[in-house]
Amino acid sequence: MNATAAVAAAVVPAAGRGERLGPGAPKALRELGGVPLLVHAVRALARSRAVGLVVVAAPPDGVAEVAALLDSHGLDGKDLRVVAGGATRQESVRLGLAAIPAGTGIVLVHDAARPLVPVDVVDAVVAAVRAGAEAVVPAVSLADTVKRVAAAAAPGGPEPVLDTPDRATLRAVQTPQGFLRDTLHEVHEKALAEEADGGLPPVTDDAGLVERFGGQVVVVPGHEEAFKVTRPLDLVLAEAVLARRRASDGF
Ligand code: C5P
Repeated sequence: MNATAAVAAAVVPAAGRGERLGPGAPKALRELGGVPLLVHAVRALARSRAVGLVVVAAPPDGVAEVAALLDSHGLDGKDLRVVAGGATRQESVRLGLAAIPAGTGIVLVHDAARPLVPVDVVDAVVAAVRAGAEAVVPAVSLADTVKRVAAAAAPGGPEPVLDTPDRATLRAVQTPQGFLRDTLHEVHEKALAEEADGGLPPVTDDAGLVERFGGQVVVVPGHEEAFKVTRPLDLVLAEAVLARRRASDGF
């Protein structure tokens, strides 16, 4: 790595149980092509010359195990730290962010569950922050039409449709999301203060916090291979993508 090129640090929230994937190890430690999802995700970030430090938020009872695992997979000489994550994704990110030096200009947040994000997406997000955006999300357009629904009258019953947003204006948002470090720090602190007051529920992505407190988030093109491994079928797809990459370029 050319150290002078590194301008960003990354937080990888990896403390989720991943129950939708079925029973077993925490999702980040499930294997894809014989390598844990988390290791793929950290390598994907480390491939970017812009990233100098990666902080992983591990399950609180798995910090030593995750540190040993990352150690055993040697990660391109990047600075790597493992901290205990929290009860929600938002808390895990906040705890990871606390381990990043205050002088860092740009922070990326990347789900451990997105193992195959291409380095071009990482670089495009960093470039957009460097070009002046305070919050950047990679996103793709939707194949499906989306409907908003109300609660069913009875559990398991049909849900009444409220409306159909214009699909052309919708985006499915991925990670890594990129931020000015000070912006991300500030919105996480504000959210923590609100939570203590019994305020709003945690968000499912960090850009959502920037929006909540009035900041401007912009979208850059994401990539279909940056999908999140959530359900068993996603693992099948991820294995196929990985096999194709290994066959075509010795990935
Ligand atoms: O649950 P979901 O798929 O939205 O999780 C997205 C990412 O957030 C995953 O990488 C997961 O490990 C992480 N997470 C976390 N701490 C939690 C819950 C989720 O770091 N308490």
